Amino acid sequence: MSHDRLAWISEELADYERRDLRRRLAVRGGAQRGDGIQWQGARLANFGSNDYLGLATHPDICQAVRQAVERGGWGSGASPLITGRGELHARLEERLAEFEACEAALLFPSGFAANVGAITCLAGPGDVIFSDQKNHASIIDGCRLSGAAVRVFPHGDVDALRTMLCDAGGFRRRLIVTDSLFSMDGDFAPLADFAELADEYSAMLLVDEAHATGVFGERGRGVCELLGVESGVHVRVGTLSKALGSIGGFVSGSRPLIEWLVNRARPYFFSTAPPEAIAAAGLAALDLVSDEVQRRERLLERSARLRAELAERGFRIGNSQSQIVPIIVGEAARTMEAAARLREQGFFVPGIRPPSVPSGESLLRISLTYHHDDETIDRLLAAIEVAVR
Ligand code: PMP
Repeated sequence: MSHDRLAWISEELADYERRDLRRRLAVRGGAQRGDGIQWQGARLANFGSNDYLGLATHPDICQAVRQAVERGGWGSGASPLITGRGELHARLEERLAEFEACEAALLFPSGFAANVGAITCLAGPGDVIFSDQKNHASIIDGCRLSGAAVRVFPHGDVDALRTMLCDAGGFRRRLIVTDSLFSMDGDFAPLADFAELADEYSAMLLVDEAHATGVFGERGRGVCELLGVESGVHVRVGTLSKALGSIGGFVSGSRPLIEWLVNRARPYFFSTAPPEAIAAAGLAALDLVSDEVQRRERLLERSARLRAELAERGFRIGNSQSQIVPIIVGEAARTMEAAARLREQGFFVPGIRPPSVPSGESLLRISLTYHHDDETIDRLLAAIEVAVR
C-alpha cells in the first residue's frame, strides 16, 4: 500500500520522541493576550507571545480590519505584480518607508519571506555571505537558497568576522547578515562594529529587526535606531507579526533596492499578495507605535526589572538586554519538565530545544508584553523558583 512508502516517517517521529524532541500542535482558546489565554482547559498568563506591545487585540486595529473587509472584501486574488496590490498595500509601503526613514519599503507575506527574498536578491553564486551563528532560520534558509558561499561567524564575534572578511578574497560581492535582537537569547548584535566592518571591507549590511521593530529606538524603529547606526545599514528587514500585532514582513532601504526586489524576489511575486485588510492593520499599528510611546517604555522598564530579579536569584539569563529573557536550563527533557511545572502553576512559558537552539542549550523563553503587570511578573518569579530549581 502506498502509505508504507512513508513508514520511515513514523520511525523518525518515534526517534524524536525518544530524544525529547517531538513537537505537537496545540490549540489556544480565546484571544492572544499576554495577561491570559485559554490553554488545555486552564487559564494561563501567557509568556509565550511576540505580541510585545499588546496590539494583537487592540480595538483600533480590529476596527481598521473590519472597515477594510467591508470596503474591499478579503482575498487579494493575485500576486502583487499582477492585480493583487491594492491602494492599502501601497499606502502601507509608503508609511513603512516614512516610519523607517528610508526611501522605500516593500510588504511581503511574512518576515520569513522577506528575509529569504532579500538575501537571495543580494547575493548569488560568486558572492559571499557572512552570517551570525544564531541568526533566524529564515536568514539561514535565505543564505542557502542564494547559492552564495556562506561563512558563519561565532555569535556576535566582531574579531572573527573581521578575520573572515579579511580572508575572503576573490568574491564578487560581500553581504553581512544579522538579527538585531536575537530571538532566543534576547541580546543585541554589535551593530556599530558590523557597520564599521561593512564600510572597511565594502560589504553590504542587512539587519533583521523582527523582534525590535516597535520596541526599541526613540521612534520605535528598532535597535539600529537605538544604537544610532541606521545610516550604516543598507537593508533592513522587519515584521508586522510581532510588536505590530498582525502578520506580514517588510524590507526597507533605497528605492533601487526595493525596485530590485520587485523584479527579483521570488517569495514576493510568486505568492499571492496578503489581503488588503492586513495592510489596514499595519497602518493602524504604526499609528499606535507613534502615538502610544508609553507601551514600549513600560514594556522595557518591566523587562529590565525581570532581568535584574532573575539574575539576582542566580538564574542564567545569558546576555539578554530586552523583552526576550531566556532562562538557560541545558537538557531538553529538564527544560520541558520545567515548562510543564510552570503551566501547572498558571504560566505559559515555552521550552525551546533543538533544532531551535544548539544541543545542551535548551531554555525557557520568557517574552514580556505590555499586558504583563508588576504583580503578574512577581507571581511568575515565585513560580520559577519552584519550577526551575
Ligand atoms: N526574523 C526573526 C529574527 C524571527 O524571529 C522571525 C519569526 N520567528 C522571523 C524573522 C519571521 O517573521 P514572521 O513570523 O513574520 O515570518
